Amino acid sequence: MSTRTITGGCQCGAIQYEIEGDLPPAYCCHCGECKKQSASAFSMSLGIAFSRLTVKGEPAMFETFGFSGAVKRCYFCRSCGTRMWHRSGHNPEFATLKVGTLDDGEGIAPSFHLWVSKKQAGIMLDPAVPAYDTQPENLLELRERMAGTK
Ligand SMILES: [Zn+2]
Ligand SMILES: [Zn+2]
Repeated sequence: MSTRTITGGCQCGAIQYEIEGDLPPAYCCHCGECKKQSASAFSMSLGIAFSRLTVKGEPAMFETFGFSGAVKRCYFCRSCGTRMWHRSGHNPEFATLKVGTLDDGEGIAPSFHLWVSKKQAGIMLDPAVPAYDTQPENLLELRERMAGTK
């Protein structure tokens, strides 16, 4: 059985990556930080073991802090500004990959929503999908379990 290769990259193509095999589940976050980083109404990400990514190109990075207080390293293309992934200071092997950077993200639906209390007006969610007003206490653990890095 052959595994499929998933590809992605930034808007200008300077940063590209490949992932072998299937992707972990994705989720959306509607918080103010995610509005800024995505320059849009919400972010869509998936937690993944960073070692699964084969990266071409050198992304730029800046540091901020997650709601947990942990350092969050944010990687982006220095040419076009596309946000690519975040890596946690407390576990560098854990990354959140931005779903919009996939070359073919078709069919990827969020498995939960975070921070719907900050949701942009007019964005309608599937009522069958779990939605948190803020975020669950064990979010780090939850995402690492989904990514297989825990
Ligand atoms: Zn770029
Ligand atoms: Zn957020």
